[in-house]
Amino acid sequence: MERTTHTLLVGDQATEFATQLGFKEEDLHSDKSRDLYKQWKQKNCQPNYWKNVVPDPKQSCGPYKPKPFPPNRNKQELSEDSYKGIGSDNHDTIGMVVVDSKGNVAGGTSTNGLNHKIPGRVGDSPIAGAGSYVDNDVGGAAATGDGDVMMRFLPSFHAVMMMKSGASPTIAAGDAIKSIIRFYPDFVGAVLAVNIEGAHGAACHGIEKFPYSIRSTDYSDVTVLEVPCM
Ligand code: ASP
Repeated sequence: MERTTHTLLVGDQATEFATQLGFKEEDLHSDKSRDLYKQWKQKNCQPNYWKNVVPDPKQSCGPYKPKPFPPNRNKQELSEDSYKGIGSDNHDTIGMVVVDSKGNVAGGTSTNGLNHKIPGRVGDSPIAGAGSYVDNDVGGAAATGDGDVMMRFLPSFHAVMMMKSGASPTIAAGDAIKSIIRFYPDFVGAVLAVNIEGAHGAACHGIEKFPYSIRSTDYSDVTVLEVPCM
């Protein structure tokens, strides 16, 4: 089987390449995004994901300073790490897994779909194994949801390793979600998995159902499927 080589371009190199392709650097603000920002400021910058800072991030827009880090965090405090404010209106990372006609597998996510993130935050999306993961001999997986929790469990890697051991995509995605909710019962998110035969499945938690799209091999059609969540 012919293998492809992958190159990841970041920063100035990525900008230069995009310019060569004909993309122009432009301001991506829209009236809608400006309006969202104005409303957010009026609501004391809520939702706001800062933790362990002063002044109280629920009452003030900052600037913030760190509180001394608590030495031993208990299970209750850990579970409070979940975003209470995450919902269908404020996040939607796009995750994609593709198996080409030569059997090469590729996966990727949009940088991150969460609104009102802390500047400089690195979520799960760009972390290999968390946001997405592929193995050319097995298949691939992608994840969406509360990234600060998800990235601790590498759910995409988990799902691909499960498929490597013979699990179906649905079982593999479900097992990845189960390993998270064991520690974070309030977790909101989903994992999608595809194997090199083209079988696919998904699992989710914290919402009612999770839709995902499948594109046919001849690129003529897209089917939207929905799985009920755990
Ligand atoms: N996983 C993303 C993050 O937490 C959010 C999303 O999936 O929309 O950064």
